[in-house]
Amino acid sequence: MIFNGNQLANSILQTLRVTSKIKPKLGICLVGDSPASKSYVNRKLKACQEINIDAELFNFSENVEQDQLIKHIQSMNHDGILVQLPLPLHLNKLDIIHSIPYEKDVDCLHMHNLQRILVYGELCEMLPCTPAAVLQILDYYDVNVIGKKVTVIGRSFLVGLPLSLLLQKRNATVTVCHRETLNLDQHIMNADIVISAAGHPKLVRNVKQGAIVIDVGISQGEQKGRIVGDVDFNVVKNQASIITPVPGGVGPMTICMLMRNLCNIWKKKQGQPVYINPKLSDAYLND
Ligand code: ADP
Repeated sequence: MIFNGNQLANSILQTLRVTSKIKPKLGICLVGDSPASKSYVNRKLKACQEINIDAELFNFSENVEQDQLIKHIQSMNHDGILVQLPLPLHLNKLDIIHSIPYEKDVDCLHMHNLQRILVYGELCEMLPCTPAAVLQILDYYDVNVIGKKVTVIGRSFLVGLPLSLLLQKRNATVTVCHRETLNLDQHIMNADIVISAAGHPKLVRNVKQGAIVIDVGISQGEQKGRIVGDVDFNVVKNQASIITPVPGGVGPMTICMLMRNLCNIWKKKQGQPVYINPKLSDAYLND
């Protein structure tokens, strides 16, 4: 089965459409003019428009000073705030993320939010967007991860690390692989579920027959302007029971999860019930 991320994202987005007269407002800070970052930001703006959310973009020059950016963030009165990553090297990413009030941290990257969710195992109205997208895809297919062997490739702050902790919270047995992992192919072949977030084309060339394969990787393809994932799709699609393509798999779902975080921030503010991922296990709280 080949997952259709655009279709599922669109159907979830329909459920998030805001119909009230007063609407939530998202503020996006973009530094520089990298085409990739601009394209991600445009997709976020488009999703806001689709579900009737106001969005405002603040575009800073590549050499903006850290203090200036932080002052701007602190002055924003939006319901949700995000800073598009990556940032130029002269800026301290963590200081900038932490200048966003944690209750407005729609990307869910502030240590307060990550700690609540990943360390203390609190069921929470927000989740980091890409890991949330992966969980949502597993839920869509009703995949039960309890006791399953899951290999996560990549341990980044944005994807691999939070995802591996969330999967542990769902009681999966998680192996985390990274740049220095020896015998990567063995860890891949051993897994019931392979999730690759390394940004390295054709890293996953073979999987166990019937494995579930989720491709979070994004790299420039050989053809200009084409993006590719980490998985050798044409080979692995014949081995996997479920596989996500790039593009059109995890990507659209990630934006959809961003919108869900924003709607939850808004609902919480209004005293309305928020969406909480129901399958995060309570067992984790006792570990
Ligand atoms: P992202 O934020 O999209 O996850 P990063 O570039 O920050 O991407 O992180 C990439 C991750 O993938 C790192 O944790 C790195 O160790 C891992 N990685 C990169 N190349 C390989 C590889 N060849 N084999 C296994 N892991 C890799």
